Amino acid sequence: MTKEEIRKLAAETESELAPVFRRIDGISSANTEKVMDAFSRAHVSEACFVQTTGYGYDDRGRTVLEQVYADVFGAEAALVRPHFINGTHAIACGLFGVLRGGGRLLCATGMPYDTLVPVIFGDRGGSLKEYGVTSEVVRLTEEDGSFSAEKHMERLRKAVKEFRPSAALIQRSRGYDQRPTLSPDMIDRISREIKLLSPETRIVVDNCYGEFVAKREPKVSRTDGADLLCGSLIKNPGGGLAPTGGYTVGTKEAVEGAACRLVAPGIGGEAGSYAGGYRLFYQGLFMAPHTVAQAVKTAVFAAAVLSRLGYAVSPGAEDERFDIIQTVNFGRPEPLLAFMRGIQAGSPVDSFVTPEPWDMPGYDDPVVMAAGAFVSGASIELSADAPMREPYTAFMQGGLTFESGKLGILKALEFMAEQK
Ligand SMILES: *Cc1c(COP(=O)(O)O)cnc(C)c1O
Repeated sequence: MTKEEIRKLAAETESELAPVFRRIDGISSANTEKVMDAFSRAHVSEACFVQTTGYGYDDRGRTVLEQVYADVFGAEAALVRPHFINGTHAIACGLFGVLRGGGRLLCATGMPYDTLVPVIFGDRGGSLKEYGVTSEVVRLTEEDGSFSAEKHMERLRKAVKEFRPSAALIQRSRGYDQRPTLSPDMIDRISREIKLLSPETRIVVDNCYGEFVAKREPKVSRTDGADLLCGSLIKNPGGGLAPTGGYTVGTKEAVEGAACRLVAPGIGGEAGSYAGGYRLFYQGLFMAPHTVAQAVKTAVFAAAVLSRLGYAVSPGAEDERFDIIQTVNFGRPEPLLAFMRGIQAGSPVDSFVTPEPWDMPGYDDPVVMAAGAFVSGASIELSADAPMREPYTAFMQGGLTFESGKLGILKALEFMAEQK
């Protein structure tokens, strides 16, 4: 294809996507209203943006930001901190906060995300296992990779009855796996089912990549919902502006547990200063519903053009979405590498570098990554990762603006055309 043909295909595809984009705009509007109402109720003012130092007792910026997050997520309490270095850190604090030595953790939706494996099953560093927490995994998908909610629910009920977990972990996003992303409805159903059989089981949701993709988030409730939702601020809720950090929102008790783990028992969430000030966390949350919509449109656009070119994509362009991740199977290494290099060339930062596969620690196959972000490693910005193995799948996500996200995809198509 020539550059002109690619542009023509893009324009046609985009106009066909108008109804899908309208749906995404509707979700963004609803979530924007939710965020604005929370800002108003919490009386966000300029005083919330001042920098603080030292212990940070009575830090208004921190306290009000956490009030806003709790309100937006329908939770009693929140811990929103630059002191969480990433999503893994927030989820780990959440798990350690609800579990004690001798406890039992049920991974209710399959193997957890890679970075949580050493936290739960590791043999060093003070993992849950080393503290005497035993863990079990309920498979999410069938042996052939397909998903049946009923069969999963059957396995889940059996595991809850036999294993009698003190805590359960539910992962919303597919992460870097070929599995379905769970909707807030489905997560609520899983939480209800667990608590019906075992009311004392505390539930932690890994909400990474899911925030603001749908009109509502998983329900927080001590009796018939999750105790904690956790995620990263350099993904969806940071809106592309938060420079670092993570969050947990949930019941008072579960948030306090995570705070005691992040800081120290006896201090919990009552202290912590930030010399950078919290303005970008507020502004990022304000932007987040819109920014997430831009990323979702970018993913939908990629799904539509790449499936037109004959590649298998998931989810499909018209499918309802619950996270920002798009997978594309390229079938062969050459178009995958060309795609990754095009994404890199279409980034605002580091557009001149060439991504190469490398042997990343913890992975069996070489991995190639494309990203050129303002906030280092931020995956709400256009980025893609791909393990170099069958079926040569790219996992792509992000895009701060649809215009730039679309250009990134077009650049990738140009690289693929040149390589043929
Ligand atoms: C990103 C992510 C995490 C946490 O990753 P960090 O890089 O530590 O922020 C956890 N679970 C899922 C599903 C994720 O996508």
